[in-house]
Amino acid sequence: PHPHRGRAGNAAASTNAVRITHRQRIVDESTGITKIELVEYYQQVAGLMLEHLKGRPVSLVRAPAGLAGEIFFQKHMGTPPIPGVRSLPQQLDKEHPPLMEIATARGLAGAAQMGAIEFHTWNARRDRIGRPDRMVFDLDPGEGVAWSAVPQAALAVRAFLGELGLACFAKTSGGKGLHVVVPLQRRYGWDTVKDFSHAIVQRMADDAPRRFSAHSGPDKRVGRIYIDYLRNGFGATTVAAWSVRARPGMGVSVPLSWDEVEKLESPTQWHLRNIGERLRCGNAPWKQYGASAQALAQAMKKLGFAA
Ligand code: ATP
Ligand code: MN
Ligand code: MN
Repeated sequence: PHPHRGRAGNAAASTNAVRITHRQRIVDESTGITKIELVEYYQQVAGLMLEHLKGRPVSLVRAPAGLAGEIFFQKHMGTPPIPGVRSLPQQLDKEHPPLMEIATARGLAGAAQMGAIEFHTWNARRDRIGRPDRMVFDLDPGEGVAWSAVPQAALAVRAFLGELGLACFAKTSGGKGLHVVVPLQRRYGWDTVKDFSHAIVQRMADDAPRRFSAHSGPDKRVGRIYIDYLRNGFGATTVAAWSVRARPGMGVSVPLSWDEVEKLESPTQWHLRNIGERLRCGNAPWKQYGASAQALAQAMKKLGFAA
């Protein structure tokens, strides 16, 4: 039984034994979304989101004064520590304060109390940090690209991976694009996975140079979709499924089925104000994810990639 002084009140009350202050602070002026709305969302979604956070180093995008104030990216434990957020062993990153992990609803509440809005995770888990368990393709539309080209690009990535014998899963970024995720067996080092992801993107761009680009320069993307493989480098992060984005309108990154990708109208189709209904189907579109960790040897051979 936690003290609860009414949702509308501005008094500090606790969520998961974390004292929540400034409950009525406006975080997003474009919608009027308040801090307590965010905190309550993260409590509601905790069960679904922790599946995507557990065991992984996590970075935070914090906006303690709301989106109109300073926004910063936090990769390491700071002072004071965030309630419920765990420190990872020092040897994972010797040069800096410890990396962080969020493995409990209390950690989510603690982070939200400290102004965290976005949660970004590594491609590897703490117990085998040198061997990523996923490969990520980040689809970024260049200037002048119609939205419908983005889901088409995700389907093209899926088809190409399919030819290589690899299953993959899609989610909205909650920002401007889509993310395609390939679950991996933890057999390969970071450089191998990154180089292989680069080879895949390069081949797709070579085969359809007017649709896709493997290069990030803005002039290289005009009218095309940049398929960003750089999320696969050591220590790189990608926004976690169910994270809210620190952008006006507060889009949410949502796991999709491939049928939904075809019909998707916008990368911000789900946002903090309409996400409630979506929580009912939860992680179901990614039901097969956990059973889909894949080896890469066959796919590498098919692509003519030498590790
Ligand atoms: P979009 O669909 O709009 O491209 P996205 O999630 O794919 O959204 P960004 O929000 O542009 O891409 O984030 C780029 C990546 O860079 C993030 O996944 C994050 O991990 C990382 N990142 C963002 N800000 C910083 C920062 N200040 N320092 C280090 N890394 C950052
Ligand atoms: Mn992106
Ligand atoms: Mn990108």
